[in-house]
This record gives sequence, C-alpha cells and structure tokens, in this order.
Amino acid sequence: MVPYVIRRSSRSRRIYISLDEQNQALLTVPMRATLKAAVSFLEQCGDWLVEQMAKTLPSKSILQYLRDKPVLTLNGERCRVTFAFTNRCPYCKYNSESGEVVLRFDHHAINEIRIREALKSLAKQCLTERLEYLCDTKSIQRPGRVTVRDQSSRWGSCSTSRGISLNWRLIFLPARLQDYVILHELAHLKEMNHTRSFWSLLKTYDSRSSDHDKRLNEVGRTIISLGQSAC
Ligand SMILES: [Zn+2]
Repeated sequence: MVPYVIRRSSRSRRIYISLDEQNQALLTVPMRATLKAAVSFLEQCGDWLVEQMAKTLPSKSILQYLRDKPVLTLNGERCRVTFAFTNRCPYCKYNSESGEVVLRFDHHAINEIRIREALKSLAKQCLTERLEYLCDTKSIQRPGRVTVRDQSSRWGSCSTSRGISLNWRLIFLPARLQDYVILHELAHLKEMNHTRSFWSLLKTYDSRSSDHDKRLNEVGRTIISLGQSAC
C-alpha cells in the first residue's frame, strides 16, 4: 500500500507516475483516461514504486527534525535546543555561556519559512564567528567576505574574489564535520580546484579530512534537504 494523489492533466497523453517532494506517488492521468485504468497502471508499477520510495528520502520539516534531534552546533559546541512560545515572529535565543538555544514560535500557527529564517540568522552569526576562530587558530588568512546562504545542494563555495559562502544548515552537522566544511572552503582560497595539492593542504588544516569528507556524504543528505520544501 502506498499513498498516492491523482492529478488530471489536459496536456498529458499517457498515464505516468512520479514522486513529489514528500515522497508521495503522484499519478498523472489524461482527461480521457478512466480512473480504473489509472489504478490498474499504479498496481502494475507497484514493485518499481516501492523501490523508488525506499531510495528517496522525504524532505523533513526543520521542526520535525529538531524535535527528533534537538541539538545544533554553534561555535564548536553541541547545544541543546528547547522550544518555547511566542505569538510574534519566531526567533532564537542563544546563550553562549550555557550553550542553550531557545527557539520560540507559535505552536498553533507554525510557519516553517519563518522558523527557517530564525535559525538562519543564528547560523549567520555563529558560522562567521567559527570561520574567524578557525582562521586565527590555524593561521589561515581570513577571506575577503563571508556569506551564509540557503543553498539547495552545496555545503559551501569559494569565489575567485576570495568570498566564502556557507550553507546555514551547517549548524545541524556535528562539530567536526561543520569545521571540515569551513576548512575545505578556506583551503580553496589557496587552491581553487580539487587537485592533489588541494587535498594535501586541506590535510594540514584537518588531519582527518578524508574521513570527514566520507562521513559528510553519508549523513549530509537528510540535513541538506531540511526546510527545502518550505520555499
Ligand atoms: Zn571543494
């Protein structure tokens, strides 16, 4: 049994199935086709569909994710997140002394986009500080500019004008992986490509860089999709 939605389409000439961003089957049916034909088509695709659904992870909402795992990495520390109420715009309060984060939002009118913005502004402050801290402790020259953005598929990037851009979702990663991404981008200030000299420079910044790169690929997929359906 799989959840599915039927969409009638005047443009489509045949019945076809796709998966939407919630990992739900979307059955597109031409206007003239019968529902019986559509359901029988769905049944024929059963095994294929179940296989595809297992491969594709549904993109979780930020709140769903934080409720399961209420921790964020801020300034190199794992910080516990608690939830509280406000009837105004959602916002985060971070106490750097105790390492506690309070995310306030209206439980009766959850607005995923505004929750994302609240976390993004916390990320902006903390990721920039972390990058500066890493530059100072590892004697790396600071980049010309640091931006924290909402990239959909990249953890970070480095431009030829010495600007570094970081994905705000880095605050969901464990400290060692967050630092790895920042150091990876800092290494691009000297070596723009992924050449052998790039990887050996990165190893001087992070001695376990290859383990961290591998681990990021394993755990990063769910995290990078957080909040993307709320666009
Ligand atoms: Zn790179």
